Amino acid sequence: MRSRTPDRLCAEAVELAREAAAEAARPGTVGEHLGAVADGDRVVTHFFECAEPGYQGWRWAVTVARASRAKTVTLDETVLLPGPDALLAPEWVPWSERLRPGDLGPGDLLPTEAEDLRLEPGISGEDAPPPDSVLAEEELEQRPVPRIAEISGFAEEVGMGRARVLSRYGLHVAADRWEEEYGPKTPMAQAAPASCVTCGFLVPLSGSLRQAFGVCANEFSPADGHVVSLSYGCGGHSEAAVMPKPPRPAPPVIDETRVDELGLHDTEPDQETETEHGETGD
Ligand code: SF4
Repeated sequence: MRSRTPDRLCAEAVELAREAAAEAARPGTVGEHLGAVADGDRVVTHFFECAEPGYQGWRWAVTVARASRAKTVTLDETVLLPGPDALLAPEWVPWSERLRPGDLGPGDLLPTEAEDLRLEPGISGEDAPPPDSVLAEEELEQRPVPRIAEISGFAEEVGMGRARVLSRYGLHVAADRWEEEYGPKTPMAQAAPASCVTCGFLVPLSGSLRQAFGVCANEFSPADGHVVSLSYGCGGHSEAAVMPKPPRPAPPVIDETRVDELGLHDTEPDQETETEHGETGD
């Protein structure tokens, strides 16, 4: 059974422990003796302050021991251990949990887990025989159904013809995310004159998401090119403020009852007459 009281000879071997710590540490970085604890019968660990600037709160731990009925204390091991107030690196987090939206750059590959909850198997038609195989020909002869009636053909039509497709969970988390950014609770939507559902710039989606979302195609809207909730809205709504047509100018009035005299030279018509005939118009 372990003794709680440190062995006297081992507890007195402070200098032996200090020398061991000094040998392992950089010169001058072993500080005060902080105490000793019993690790077992005739096994004691001495702690020394570590003066390394990068290891605040760490301690040199030197374990010494002696054999039963022996008077000589020997060195067991020397390690640097963190104390209760030690400066420690943050806990390591796997990259898959550290990844944030926007971290993926050009050329990066992001592996998707085989068991990704956001995905579920699609209908890729891999189970069907290749189109030019004997089996396929035999099947076609026996069952000449159009391709659209086959499961894989139908799956392609409805967008399921891929190895994996979005699962119900995947749809939900995407919808939550989009609604948070472009949903009815955003300040922009709250101040909008009308919602996207009545806007001419809304491009509808296909599939079940079309019931709640569309894509904004107004280049002046902050949501241009983004998936928006049908309850979202912005000041760029197509019907919110239709610009009035500019007024049409009145057609020109032509007075055909009068004749306008036009001078052929720079002088006034009356002066021209005076010069030619040497008379005034009086
Ligand atoms: S312009 Fe505004 S209201 Fe119209 S679809 Fe885009 S975000 Fe919705």
